[in-house]
Amino acid sequence: MRIVVPSVIVLVGPSGSGKSTWARRHFAASEIVSSDRLRAAVGLDEYDQRASPDAFAVLNDIVRRRIGRKLTTVIDTLGMNAADRATWITLANAAGLPTYAVTFSTEPKVCRARNKQRSRPVPAKALTAQIDKFAETSGELTTEGYAAVIEASDEVRVVNRAMAGAAEARDRQRASPLRLDFGLQLASFNFPGSPQTTAEHLVEIAQAAEEVGFSSLWVMDHFMQIPQVGPEWWDMPEAYTTLAYLAAATRRIKLGTLVTGVGYRNPALLGKMIATLDVLSGGRAIAGLGAGWFERETVGYGYGVPTTKERLDRLEDMLQMLPLLWGPGAPSFEGKTFSVPEAMCYPRPLQDHIPILVGGGGEKRTLRLVAQYADAANFFGDADAVRHKIAVLHEHCAAVGRDPADIAITHLAPALMATDQSDLEARVAAIKPNNVSAAVFGATVNAGAIDDHIGRFHTLGEAGVETAIVSLVGVPAASDVWRLAPIVDAFS
Ligand code: ATP
Ligand code: MG
Repeated sequence: MRIVVPSVIVLVGPSGSGKSTWARRHFAASEIVSSDRLRAAVGLDEYDQRASPDAFAVLNDIVRRRIGRKLTTVIDTLGMNAADRATWITLANAAGLPTYAVTFSTEPKVCRARNKQRSRPVPAKALTAQIDKFAETSGELTTEGYAAVIEASDEVRVVNRAMAGAAEARDRQRASPLRLDFGLQLASFNFPGSPQTTAEHLVEIAQAAEEVGFSSLWVMDHFMQIPQVGPEWWDMPEAYTTLAYLAAATRRIKLGTLVTGVGYRNPALLGKMIATLDVLSGGRAIAGLGAGWFERETVGYGYGVPTTKERLDRLEDMLQMLPLLWGPGAPSFEGKTFSVPEAMCYPRPLQDHIPILVGGGGEKRTLRLVAQYADAANFFGDADAVRHKIAVLHEHCAAVGRDPADIAITHLAPALMATDQSDLEARVAAIKPNNVSAAVFGATVNAGAIDDHIGRFHTLGEAGVETAIVSLVGVPAASDVWRLAPIVDAFS
């Protein structure tokens, strides 16, 4: 059975049936909300029945808040209160999370025997009542709207939505292969021995990417490490200096940022830098642009915090100005947020038209700007999320008279590639944070073996993705890039 995370997992079974044991085996303590533990938190101990009302009030509050954050939540109670279950399902549905019921049909005599061995057994009568109630509850579960009712003895595998149908999608890729281009994004730079070794590690990785057949290489454009990757004091080399250096170490791979916040440099200077990258790389520059979002660094670097409207206005100005700057002559540009009296750039780029990729899925304005001006759009999420964004983009294309086929669709996601199950477990264990389970962490970073990834990428290709950009999880090494070779091959 597959449990797709993030989700809500409701355990249902009498005392001693093995609920807490199952929860601990599959999930981290911080992902489990247990009525026993909360009885101990608000009362004398786990057995303080008088503390039950308070414990359940706190439990329901925690469950609601975790679901609000779309965090995987295992609810470890007897699970036999239909009203509570209905509340949890309603909350999960509202947050777009699936809910699973896990039933513990352990033999009553086993529950009773285990109960007797406990230091504080449940009274025999109470246990019998639970066992009877469980028989009744099991029948009710099928109609309550769970994504699945799973028996605890079933083998379960925890996956994310992108991986859920991977096996079938892998078969489809074998039967009728889709073509996909691959990009490699570098997000983590704390190489062993950095900063002395940063240059050599970057070159090794970039050259490996080129040899493996990646068509593009991307770096983030940030001044401080972003919270999704690590603390802000982790290494974050400046993007265009890094790309220029890598241009000299490679021959074929395209180079860009994913993406540059339009407020991060003087607009004409940014155009000049990208043009120079294009010249020095032999015409391999891609201009990745976005509105910008990371307040910590813009405040820290003295850029301030422009409003969303200001940032999007600036993005629009930039999209209009850059082609003028890269074109012949010295036209004057007057935008809403800046002006360039002489948009002049010599040497002009080698490419007739440097492709502009916009990162961001804002449906009202960003995707409209993509339809009006951009050559590529980058999306996140699973195939359904991508399908939705593409549909919105195509509506904008229709509204502004743009041929949607002229806009390339790229997709960025982390990937952790392993050769087999034990390799996967070792790799996840090596980098996962302490308070997240291996299962949930693996799902967040798309941890999987080759076939899982082939299936996942096939599904993205079916949704309309043309370039899959892979962000390696953890500090990357050339060997990580080589491990992706069979995937790149499968889509070539
Ligand atoms: P309660 O509702 O009282 O919290 P529970 O359903 O959480 O009970 P556990 O505490 O997980 O039950 O398990 C009860 C006992 O059964 C424990 O001693 C545990 O070690 C044992 N046990 C649980 N699952 C298994 C299993 N699959 N095989 C063997 N022993 C098990
Ligand atoms: Mg328990």
